[in-house]
Amino acid sequence: MPIWIQLPKLKVEYKSEGSLKKIAGIIGNVIKLDKATRQKTRLRFARVLVEMKINDDFLEEIHFTNVKDELVTQQVVYKRKSIMCTKCNKMGHSEQKCKWNKGKDKAPKKDNRLWKDKDGFQLVVR
Ligand SMILES: [Zn+2]
Repeated sequence: MPIWIQLPKLKVEYKSEGSLKKIAGIIGNVIKLDKATRQKTRLRFARVLVEMKINDDFLEEIHFTNVKDELVTQQVVYKRKSIMCTKCNKMGHSEQKCKWNKGKDKAPKKDNRLWKDKDGFQLVVR
């Protein structure tokens, strides 16, 4: 599944097509760079289309070593709209962010559900 990723504040020295393919290649196979990234007309971030598998981790940052052998940490932003959740099969979020992950031991809450405890008190569960 192709996903657009953004690499914010990427240093200009890594913005060549070859460097970007290596960096974004950590995430997945690079399909293409967007026009502004290819022409280096956008400074805030680079945008790359990568092929990811549905079960791949959506790494929030990646690490690579540059030509000076320094370790560089690069933030990765995913275009959430193109992400499909494997838990509920909805688009727009990954399974880590899925609401079904939260409180999976609890029963789904229902509004205005009335029940009596053993002392006869009525409680409203909201
Ligand atoms: Zn979900």
